[in-house]
Amino acid sequence: MTKPQSKHVLKLRKTLLAHYDARGRALSWRIRPKDRADGAVADPYKIWLSEIMCQQTTVTAVTPYWHKFLAKWPSVNDLANAPRDEVLAAWAGLGYYARARNLHKCAGVVANELGGEFPNSEQQLLTLPGIGPYSAAAIASICFGAPTNVVDGNVERVISRLYMVENPLPKGRAELREHAGEIASPNRRRSHRNGDYGQALMDLGSQICKPKNPKCEECPWSFACLATKAGVPENYPKKIKKQKPPNRYGAVFYLEREREGTREILLQQRPDKGLLGGMMQLPTTDWTDTQHPLDHLLTQAPYPHNWQLCDKPVKHVFTHFTLHLKVFTAQTRGDVEGVWARLDELDNYALPSLMRKAIKVGEIKGNFVMF
Ligand code: SF4
Repeated sequence: MTKPQSKHVLKLRKTLLAHYDARGRALSWRIRPKDRADGAVADPYKIWLSEIMCQQTTVTAVTPYWHKFLAKWPSVNDLANAPRDEVLAAWAGLGYYARARNLHKCAGVVANELGGEFPNSEQQLLTLPGIGPYSAAAIASICFGAPTNVVDGNVERVISRLYMVENPLPKGRAELREHAGEIASPNRRRSHRNGDYGQALMDLGSQICKPKNPKCEECPWSFACLATKAGVPENYPKKIKKQKPPNRYGAVFYLEREREGTREILLQQRPDKGLLGGMMQLPTTDWTDTQHPLDHLLTQAPYPHNWQLCDKPVKHVFTHFTLHLKVFTAQTRGDVEGVWARLDELDNYALPSLMRKAIKVGEIKGNFVMF
């Protein structure tokens, strides 16, 4: 079977752009082609924010966060001047918290070292904290019309089907990139259509060329797609089978007190480096590969108390492991040093989803006996 020839390359770009003009998604941060024709230009701050938030996260989940961030910090200088804990708290729930720490760091570099202006080349963008190859390519093309090759998991899927690439992922990644680059910017000149092309390809991957049941009948590339012609689009991309992520185990301690009729719980800040760095948490044991008995877990409690075990453990899936946490609860009248957070003000704290789940379990337990 022949691969799409170079004569197809221009047609592929053209048909995809025409499809985008007619049916591209209207996203909050996106300049639509007709608005661009009327002189609208993309704001690099807004695009950068959306690109960082959209890494590993859906557009639906990101949109309210994007609006919240812009309302709180309308410019990159505002974000740079915000306390980091406030940025982490605003990010809470969006996951992958290293992104929030790098977001704040990057805002600081742009505001303090680059006069508040994002650089206009992919190479310079790549030097900024938290901006990887995909985000650099996307920002450079969308905001500055740079001829880049925007490739994420969605794009890999489309290209693997279009060219029927047999080399499995992750090894086949370079080949997919090369094919994607052939179509992305054939003449290597700056043009606002480069940004439209990248966005059109993202739309194609997320809306039409879905992992299951791709809508090939609606696809502007069906005329050239080898996998569809062979009737096997879902067989691509080929992947080396991943091993199931390992399990880890531990426990958290939900300690509650009452102050002037208000319920408060004890929180701690995680170390700056590592998983969930700088975020808040319930005091926790180590997270280990083996399950330890309850009395061993209780030796790591932050305070000697009559801890009660909740029936419901918490399960949370991280990229590289699945965490199973037991939740112990207690209530205190004593003076315990630490960050006491009002239960009705938890939104002011940078609490990751995992800890929110654990707090819910601890709260449900309720009905404590004070001692
Ligand atoms: S024709 Fe089908 S499989 Fe091929 S790129 Fe389009 S949606 Fe994907």
